[in-house]
Parts: sequence; structure tokens; C-alpha cells
Amino acid sequence: MTPIPLLDLRAQYQSHRTEILEAIERVLDGMTLFLGPEQAAFEREFAAYCGAAHGVGVSNGTDALNLALRACGVGPGDEVITVSNTFIATVEAITLVGARPVFVDVDPETYTMDCSQLERALTAHTRAIMPVHLFGHAADMDPIMAFAREHSLVVIEDASQAQGATYKGKPVGGIGDIGCFSLYYSKNLGAYGEAGVNVTNNADYATAMRTFRDHGSRVRYQHEIIGTNARLDEIQAAVLRVKLPYLDGWNERRRQHAATYTEALRGVVEATPSAQPWAGHVYYVYVVRVAERDRVRHELEALGVLTGVHYPIPCHLQPACAALGYARGSLPVTEAYAEQILSIPLYPELTPEQIDTVIGAIKQACAAGVTQR
Ligand SMILES: *Cc1c(COP(=O)(O)O)cnc(C)c1O
Repeated sequence: MTPIPLLDLRAQYQSHRTEILEAIERVLDGMTLFLGPEQAAFEREFAAYCGAAHGVGVSNGTDALNLALRACGVGPGDEVITVSNTFIATVEAITLVGARPVFVDVDPETYTMDCSQLERALTAHTRAIMPVHLFGHAADMDPIMAFAREHSLVVIEDASQAQGATYKGKPVGGIGDIGCFSLYYSKNLGAYGEAGVNVTNNADYATAMRTFRDHGSRVRYQHEIIGTNARLDEIQAAVLRVKLPYLDGWNERRRQHAATYTEALRGVVEATPSAQPWAGHVYYVYVVRVAERDRVRHELEALGVLTGVHYPIPCHLQPACAALGYARGSLPVTEAYAEQILSIPLYPELTPEQIDTVIGAIKQACAAGVTQR
């Protein structure tokens, strides 16, 4: 039996192969590979999807965050409040502009920024807050925005795991000052290579990000500032335009699969994901918590079910962040969860038979632990 993968991107490609290949061919026939019509159209379409005025296509999610910080003037000497319970790119982007990440713990229900800790993290150097909409669940944006306005901070949303997710009915990304999306191939909306996009309602930020991404230039060979090369390429933009209209349908199927899992796994695992009433969850990954995670993981693999861990070592405990000086024990929820979290297969094309297999295997793997104890 072929194992059930965590994610099966071939299934999605097979369902939309003709349209995707036509789009790629269209770009190659025109041979405009950067800063062309596909990028411009994708920016418009994605910004509209997020309810934002401007979209800025970029080369990947890490650059999306980096350019957003630069556009807001965040740099050396500044502090950015964020979470350690995220992919390292969030922290890299802050560090790459010369600022310092300041970590707060996460809410035990949503795994996203615990807003009650913002006050304690605030210093005279704080310039920005970077909440992460983790696993497809929005961070609690109202208290974050209120705190930011009160203290004149900018809010940059890391929405890389939340294309199509909503907060109180509003799409994420369009709530803070800038919303940043990785469009890495495994995300709910993914390119076939590297890609990212930023959305904002602020025309100055949009212009600044456009200038940065193209060598600090708006007119060819005139460089106003030191920028970088962080453009979205036309082939990726064309692929993303094919996929965007399907995103809501794919997310709906993810929610249905998640509901089936939650129903079946309640009481089997320590915790199933919970969606707050205000969150339109899009289940980038479906994360349960189990005791003896590594044993369960190995047993599942033997039963033909492949899993992931998002993420096994919190950012603040990574060697790369040692200089920030966070000791073990400083973020107790994040640290406790890192030992227990397990991501199980979830993607729109998962079949009912596959879902049954996953559920059966988890029941078996978790029960094995109980008898051993
Ligand atoms: C994927 C991801 C990124 C980085 O995206 P890349 O496109 O790989 O650079 C940033 N933040 C989070 C939360 C992510 O999941």
C-alpha cells in the first residue's frame, strides 16, 4: 500500500493540468518573464480577494515580510513583537532588517499570539507587531490592532499559512497595515516555485515595496534607494491566477475533512484543533496533540500514514536565535506544545477511504500507548 502523504500536490495538479499548462504557455509565448501583465493582474485579483487596495507580488514569503518591515521603516535599534511558535522565516525577516524580535507566548487554544502579553513586551524601542495566523487560524486581531494604535505601532500580519482565512468575517492580510503571504508550493494557495504577495491599503507602503523589490528602482537604471531583487515572476503569477478562483472551494474541503477528523479523534488524542467562533479556519495543517508524539509518529508511519511536526523546536530555542538570550522555560505554552504537536494528512483531494485509514491508524497508535503504560 502506498502511504498516505501529509500533502499530495500531484492530485491538485492533475485536476487542473490543462489550465495550468495553458497559462504557462501563454507567458512563454509572450516572453515577458518579470513585471508583466500576469503579475499586475494577480496583484489586483489577490488584493481584491483580501479586501485590500494594493497587492505587491514578491519572490517568496520571507521577502514579503522583509519588504513590509522595510516599507514601514523598521530597522536597526527597533523591536518587533512576534511569536516563537512560527516558521523561522518570521524571525529571519525581522533580523534581516536589523531589528530585534521580541517573543510573546501563544494562546493555548488557538496557538496564536497571546495578546495579554503585549503590554509586558512593550519597550521604548517597540516599532511593530507581527502576529502569525498559524496553521490557518487567525490571530486575535482586534486587541492587537487596538494595542498597536494606542502605542503608535505598525501591524504586519504574517498570513503565510492563512490564504482565505477570515477574522470576524474579514479576510486576513487586509486587517493590519500590511499583510504578507508566502505562496510557497505547499501553502493553501501555492505557486510551482517561489512566490509571495503583500497586500495593503496604504499607497505609500505599496510604492515603497514595489521600489524595494526591483533594485530600489521605479525608472529603469535609476536607483533611488538600495533595494533588492524580490520580484514575482510571470510564470508563477500566471499559475497563481489559475489557482486563486479555486481557493475557497479547496479551503471548504479542508474544513470538511477537518470536521470529520475532529469528530472521530475527540477523546482519542489529547487535543484536536479548536476554531474560535470569530475565525474562518482554513487548516493549512491539521495539528493534534498527543502524548508520546515521536512513538505515535513512528507507529503511524509503519501503518502507512505520514505526518509532520510544525515545528519541533520553537524559534527562541534554535541555535540561530541563541544571541537573543531566551532561556528554556521562557515561553511555557510554546515549549510544551512543541513536544506534543503532530500534523496529520490534510489536503482537499483526500478521499473518504484515506480519511478512514488515517483515523483508524491514529486510534491504533494512541491505544498502543495506553496498554503499554
Ligand atoms: C511559509 C512561511 C513563511 C515563509 O515563506 P517562504 O515563501 O518559504 O519564504 C513565513 N512565515 C510563515 C508562518 C510560513 O509558514
